[in-house]
Amino acid sequence: MEYEFYAHRITGGIGADDRFWESLEEGEFRLPRCADCKRWMWPAHFRCGQCGSWEQLWEPVEMSGRIYSWTRAHYAFDRTKERTEDLPYVVVVAEVPAADGARVVGVLAGPDEGVHVGAEVRGHIDPPSEKAKGYPAVRWSVVN
Ligand SMILES: [Zn+2]
Repeated sequence: MEYEFYAHRITGGIGADDRFWESLEEGEFRLPRCADCKRWMWPAHFRCGQCGSWEQLWEPVEMSGRIYSWTRAHYAFDRTKERTEDLPYVVVVAEVPAADGARVVGVLAGPDEGVHVGAEVRGHIDPPSEKAKGYPAVRWSVVN
């Protein structure tokens, strides 16, 4: 499979999360886990901070969790001008219990009623788009 995000790659990264973006383009939500001690390693990095292993597993994870934090954007910043027409919009940091509370950022899909810390959310994946700078995107929705 040829992954679209590589053609729009944001410079400056170390590539530890490449598999995350590849998985999203495949329609799967996967997070890295140490192959040796099984600790979840998110945000992605190459070496386990607990046991030092360089081996990782990218395991499929259910896209559900609870809002850890959120913010409402009312202004189009220079690096997010593609989302101007969506203003105001909400960005959520969700804790995913299936990955030991890994915190995953995504723009809220649907109405923002019910958004509060602790609210239950479900996720889905948007394919690469101009709004996400050629990357696929995690979207969270509040479960009412
Ligand atoms: Zn480990």
